[in-house]
Amino acid sequence: MHENSESSTPQPISLPAFSIDHLAPSMPDFPDDPIRATAPQSVVSERNRSRTLWHLYHYGISSRAQIAKALGLTPAAITKITARLIDAGVVTETGDMKGSKRRRSIGLKIDSGCFHFIGVKFARSLVQIGVFDLKGTRLSLTDMPRVNDNTIDAAIAATHKTINSLLASDPDIVAIGMAVPGPYLHGTGYAALVSSMPHWRNINFQKEFGQGCPVPVFIEQDARAGVLAQRLFGGLDDAGSLAYFLLGEGVGLGVIENGRLVYGNLGASTELGHVSIDAVNGRQCECGNVGCLECYCSAGAIHEQIDKLGIVQGSSAMTHIEACQALFALAEKKSGDGRKIGKARSLVADIGRYVGYGCVIICNAFNPRRIILGDIGALGGDLLLDAARHVVDERVIPEIAQSTEITLSELPTDAAVLGAAATAITRFLDRPSYFRAIHPPGSRGRHETTVQGRIRDDS
Ligand SMILES: [Zn+2]
Repeated sequence: MHENSESSTPQPISLPAFSIDHLAPSMPDFPDDPIRATAPQSVVSERNRSRTLWHLYHYGISSRAQIAKALGLTPAAITKITARLIDAGVVTETGDMKGSKRRRSIGLKIDSGCFHFIGVKFARSLVQIGVFDLKGTRLSLTDMPRVNDNTIDAAIAATHKTINSLLASDPDIVAIGMAVPGPYLHGTGYAALVSSMPHWRNINFQKEFGQGCPVPVFIEQDARAGVLAQRLFGGLDDAGSLAYFLLGEGVGLGVIENGRLVYGNLGASTELGHVSIDAVNGRQCECGNVGCLECYCSAGAIHEQIDKLGIVQGSSAMTHIEACQALFALAEKKSGDGRKIGKARSLVADIGRYVGYGCVIICNAFNPRRIILGDIGALGGDLLLDAARHVVDERVIPEIAQSTEITLSELPTDAAVLGAAATAITRFLDRPSYFRAIHPPGSRGRHETTVQGRIRDDS
């Protein structure tokens, strides 16, 4: 996690390539966006409040003068903006900053404690619900019972129950973020395809969870939620141009370009899992295409190969995650059954090469500064990463290949639920005034009647 915590001796800020202007706002207003229906804010003042919050979020304790310099605003403007953010309870003063030689300088920081967010991760067979504060600190985590295609309705009912009980017990919860398998169609509320578990397609997430909820619910395709989590919590210096390659039960991609998420017309762009890597002789995919990447390096596809090779004892009775973890552990063994270890290493390298083909597509389609491999596949470690990197070096124009960093996610695998929360936290940082109405200054928590109410813009 990046340095945004309190420090006893804050250092003067030097501005790297990272630009706050790349960060706000992150998302377009889709028709199903709960914020869209609210009264318009004064665009300029809301944007400056958002930029101030993003600055504090990214750099930690800063003085008003430092923020003014970084954002190119006058000290008077920053005084006004920060007064409002302090009043809203989202920013707090930390006392005198050491090292200020001239005039007295008071530090400011994000007060992450009194705004809480629910993250719900729907990953085919796995539903997780977590509560996080504004800085992504996990306050609770609930693992729901494993889901199959016949128990999805029961899982939805259980999710409602858990959310309601969390909302009832914690009045500081101001929003819910949900990560759902892609492609997720923003205008309709449905996931257009959930391979291997088709009943998920019958769930209208927006209607099911967004309507009648006392706090706004933000729903995002899982890999896009993942790239938001990497930007918020991944400790990156430069997150203006970033790709998150999700290698989980499905294969997906989230791309941030010049600070904004890439969506396409219906919100279904960057569906890397359904880009073909063998359009003639490839495996048939449920989406209708042939040779989709997801057929080769999703956890299910890897599990199939493990079963076929018989290299993990009892693998057919395991879940996809368990089988993949067993494979990766076997491949890393220094001693034991040499033949099996060799087979395991060779399979992990094969998977890495498929991941590499995906990275080649990402480089050529989006040219990001960095590609982060995440979820179950990232547990394949350096063996998988090296194989992917090798393919990129071999197949991408050298200038582009050399300028693209490919790394494994440093967030834990269960960070997917944090990604769901990141969807809501990002909206909070983008549009702070909206949440001021949900959690008014001086209150202990939500005022349900004000959620749909008009929001004053008095700055
Ligand atoms: Zn497909």
